[in-house]
Amino acid sequence: MKMVIVGSIGLDSVETAYGKAQRVLGGSVVYAAVAAKNFTKVGIVGVIGEDFPADFRKQIETQNICTLGLRQIEGKTFFWEGIYNERNCAETVQTQLNVFADFSPELPSIYCDCRILFLANIDPDLQLKVLKQVRAPELIAADTMNFWINGKPEKLSQVIAQIDLLFINDDELRMLTGIRNILSAAKEMLMKGPRYIVVKRGEHGAFIMGKNFLFFSPVYPVYDVVDPTGAGDSFAGGFLGYLASCGELSESEFRRAMIYGTVLASFNVENFSVEGIKKADPQSIKNRFQKMHKFVVYD
Ligand code: AMP
Repeated sequence: MKMVIVGSIGLDSVETAYGKAQRVLGGSVVYAAVAAKNFTKVGIVGVIGEDFPADFRKQIETQNICTLGLRQIEGKTFFWEGIYNERNCAETVQTQLNVFADFSPELPSIYCDCRILFLANIDPDLQLKVLKQVRAPELIAADTMNFWINGKPEKLSQVIAQIDLLFINDDELRMLTGIRNILSAAKEMLMKGPRYIVVKRGEHGAFIMGKNFLFFSPVYPVYDVVDPTGAGDSFAGGFLGYLASCGELSESEFRRAMIYGTVLASFNVENFSVEGIKKADPQSIKNRFQKMHKFVVYD
């Protein structure tokens, strides 16, 4: 398996300026996998409860997503409820870990030799357990959020010390470092383990920083952002899925990966749940990728 993703999978209730969606398919691993599968075959690791709708499972089980690492057990599925504020940032109303509370991930043997491992947003304890099972991925990336930064800071530091690349949004980066200037905060994080840090800045785009490497991407213009849920996960899925399909991981590939991440996130925010990201296909992704070039090249 070229790429493996571990993360949350569950039911989301969200309220945005465009309306409400109740108990729809969500979770970090779902958004990331549905984005990445446009580039490469992905294996997912996670757990669902007995109440998880069969139709949702069918939506995930597509040709390029392997669900060997997905377990269904007794109990209730992970549930998250959020409301988006006027800055389009999510405010969590409730998080019910349910079956994730005692989940101990076991990687199917065909996942252990993956080239790219993505520890999507989930309990850092689970991220650490997955790290122990993989052999030697070429790139290990992780994402997190305020819930874990506040709830499990020490375990999160242990994860960060062992990865190559951290995805994080600007507010969470400030929270994690205590540094207000976002470039200085990113630089500080590079001292904690990762070789690269990708900072997601919502409608202001994203940048990647490495030692002697800095690249900025604007957003792909979307005039009706219906639901931002999963934008970060689909960004990461597009970014890493593209890298999994490349040969050598050079800095120019990382630049292109930033643009692919941006493009996949743009599909995702156009509708609730995975309805937007499901519309992305190789041709529409290519069209938006080419348009991005025109937005930034000035000579
Ligand atoms: P994003 O908008 O990219 O930050 O991701 C939103 C997804 O993260 C939603 O589908 C939620 O189900 C999931 N999520 C929310 N809170 C958590 C949490 N504490 N741990 C893992 N996943 C979460």
